[in-house]
Amino acid sequence: FWQHFNNEMRERFNEVAYNAWFKNTKPISYDKEKHELKISVQNPVSKGYWEKNLSSQLIQSAYGYAGIELLPIFQVADTNSPERIVTPEPRRINIENKKPAKPGFMQNLQLNDKYTFDNFVQGEGNKLAAGAALAVADSPGSFYNPLFIFGGVGLGKTHLMQAIGHQMLAEKPDAKIVYIQSETFVNDFINSIKNKTQDEFREKYRTCDLLLVDDIQFFAKKEGIQEEFFHTFETLYNDQKQIVMTSDRLPTEIPDLSERLVSRFTWGLQVEITPPDLETRIAILRRKAESEGLTIDDNTLNYIASQVDTNIRELEGALVKVQAHATIEKEDINPSLAREALTDLKLVQKDRGLQIPKIQEVVANYFQTSTEELKGKKRVRQIVVPRQIAMYLSRELTNASLPKIGQEFGGKDHTTVMHACDKIGKQIQTDTEIKAAVFDLKQMLDH
Ligand code: ADP
Ligand code: MG
Repeated sequence: FWQHFNNEMRERFNEVAYNAWFKNTKPISYDKEKHELKISVQNPVSKGYWEKNLSSQLIQSAYGYAGIELLPIFQVADTNSPERIVTPEPRRINIENKKPAKPGFMQNLQLNDKYTFDNFVQGEGNKLAAGAALAVADSPGSFYNPLFIFGGVGLGKTHLMQAIGHQMLAEKPDAKIVYIQSETFVNDFINSIKNKTQDEFREKYRTCDLLLVDDIQFFAKKEGIQEEFFHTFETLYNDQKQIVMTSDRLPTEIPDLSERLVSRFTWGLQVEITPPDLETRIAILRRKAESEGLTIDDNTLNYIASQVDTNIRELEGALVKVQAHATIEKEDINPSLAREALTDLKLVQKDRGLQIPKIQEVVANYFQTSTEELKGKKRVRQIVVPRQIAMYLSRELTNASLPKIGQEFGGKDHTTVMHACDKIGKQIQTDTEIKAAVFDLKQMLDH
């Protein structure tokens, strides 16, 4: 049966996720009378995931396969002794010696307590990234090095990255983990030059077991920083230390990122997080509501989730807003209260009030061309500029994602949209004509 179940799951999951959850999971004993199946899993994270997400499938599958009401029991495997307690013991603090025994940066490790694998809801858009992150957390430095997670704002990149840190810390409390925003690396580096503390800087970054660099797109155009990061990367990589990076785009799309960094970033695995589908958004809201001790009916969850369709941070914000509204009005949370609470949420207005076709119409009119041309492929300047402006405005004034905007413009690639937005964004600083046009158009569009 186990083989049967594994085959079933192998079809449902992609390879990365399948390996993460199934490779080191094995049945160890079966009690025929109680139908208890003891299953050994690799670590507590795996255990949690199996209990929450996979056990119901296992039960269903067993029922379908053998008509048995299976009772799965998960145990964390330990190669040394089966009795070992897996949760790390709290570390004793030596009161007499308050001076930290660990290098300074250990004290500075700033991970958000909530950003764990346990709190991460998996869905279509993120399961590949989550699988990869788990694989990396399970065996840092050996699977996918570096791991490069990319995708839009508020989709869970930072959450996943920190979850890797949390898990590694849970398993090896002494591991040296560095989590930083890429700007911190930049600032640390500049300060180390000013203060002549480059040795400390290198000690901090080149001797850790796990380096997490968030939003690495800010290394764009910074040659000196890239040079330094290159050496950091080389040292860690050669020592088989795990490197994880996030970015809002692919390495090849980061402006002026040196060839050698681009190529190194592709040595491991690049994995994208895409916006969550409705089902995942509802699941995230439900999880969030539960953790806040709120009971919210499905209709309301559905309503909120349908209002915010890209950014998970904003999705969470919408829930907070509804909750606050209910408290102030002393009313129960239901769809109509949610609607009321969210009408003054800017992002709902944005989405409701202004749609991309409207922007296309106004822009086409302004430049005396047609919406068909804006959605078309012609590359003459008279059309390219209005098209790029229309894309830029769609990005600025609506809540639509890059892929969605691409779709609305005749099925163009999201990178085309991104390029247009970057380009117009720059031109309004330098080109007075474009600046004026964008200004006029915004007024016409009532923004
Ligand atoms: P990013 O770094 O991609 O901009 P974050 O990791 O900061 O996004 O995520 C934004 C918020 O959404 C955080 O509060 C995070 O906990 C939450 N979040 C994102 N993805 C998920 C998910 N799959 N399950 C639960 N919460 C999520
Ligand atoms: Mg982030």
